[in-house]
Amino acid sequence: MSSFMFERIALIGIGLIGSSIARDIRARGLAGEIVVSTRSPETLRRAEELGLGDRYTAAAEDAVRGADLVIVSVPVGASGAVAEKIAPNLKPGAILTDVGSTKASVIAQMSPFVPEGVHFIPGHPIAGTEHSGPDAGFEGLFAGRWCILTPLDGVDAAAIGKLTSFWQALGSTVDRMVPEHHDKVLAIVSHLPHIIAYNIVGTADDLEAVTQSEVIQYSASGFRDFTRLAASDPTMWRDVCLHNRDAILEMLARFSEDLAYLQRAIRWGEGDKLFELFSRTRDVRRSIVEAGQDVEAPDFGRHALDKKG
Ligand code: NAP
Repeated sequence: MSSFMFERIALIGIGLIGSSIARDIRARGLAGEIVVSTRSPETLRRAEELGLGDRYTAAAEDAVRGADLVIVSVPVGASGAVAEKIAPNLKPGAILTDVGSTKASVIAQMSPFVPEGVHFIPGHPIAGTEHSGPDAGFEGLFAGRWCILTPLDGVDAAAIGKLTSFWQALGSTVDRMVPEHHDKVLAIVSHLPHIIAYNIVGTADDLEAVTQSEVIQYSASGFRDFTRLAASDPTMWRDVCLHNRDAILEMLARFSEDLAYLQRAIRWGEGDKLFELFSRTRDVRRSIVEAGQDVEAPDFGRHALDKKG
């Protein structure tokens, strides 16, 4: 009887998330063999140079042969095409999961291709940075972070248990959600902040009365924190916006209403309203620190948590 959690794990996509998973699997001895697959020869070569796997192939359909666990870590818009490609070679009894930032769309794209007997359990580790590619990954990215699984009704409980144990072995705390609920929660805590950051950095870039050098020189006064989010991968975030459209539009509508309230309070000099809101939001920050999701440091934990994003 093998001592590995999985005999063979196939990683389809080996960027920030895939390569961090690969490093953790290796460091924790979770697989007998790690098979790495990515579409471009450059990324595949780099993964090999970094020693992220035991075998490497550009053919995702070959990578999944005989794998007990298949983890798809590609932009969400590519999930359907990947599922179609790998489906015929998935081993009966294998667990198929993903790490995509949106869940209902990934399920709609992948489910039609999942063969009978394969346990499809979508997932989303709530961990990352603004960097991408195999060099950006690091061991321990998921430690102390949440991983949300969104299994569909009727999925094998033992398979869910095994995938839960896998993420726990990476140091994550696992939660379960209904896909649509996941998408709403993530729209507010992750997608909207990124969209706001892209927007504010874009606006600053467009301002003619303020020079580029001034924007950069005085960025520490607040702008800098937005630029980190706005440096996130354009492909990933284009796909997130297109694939969580309804929840994002709902949150944006709510956001615009609240912004109008704030705008009005500023226009009419309603300091009490501003003070009440700013006090309430300060409490939110305090709760996040208390929950261990950030550290209390003058730089918002930027240095201590630099690697965790
Ligand atoms: P990444 O560093 O940009 O890596 C993307 C990987 O997907 C690469 O192996 C890339 O292959 C491959 N890929 C790109 N486009 C593809 C396509 N059209 N078809 C097939 N493969 C494709 O991305 P990442 O940050 O690891 O993100 C991967 C997934 O994790 C996304 O779904 C994202 O939503 C999710 N996620 C990201 C974060 C984060 O903070 N970044 C956090 C949680 C979840 P090549 O390089 O060979 O082209």
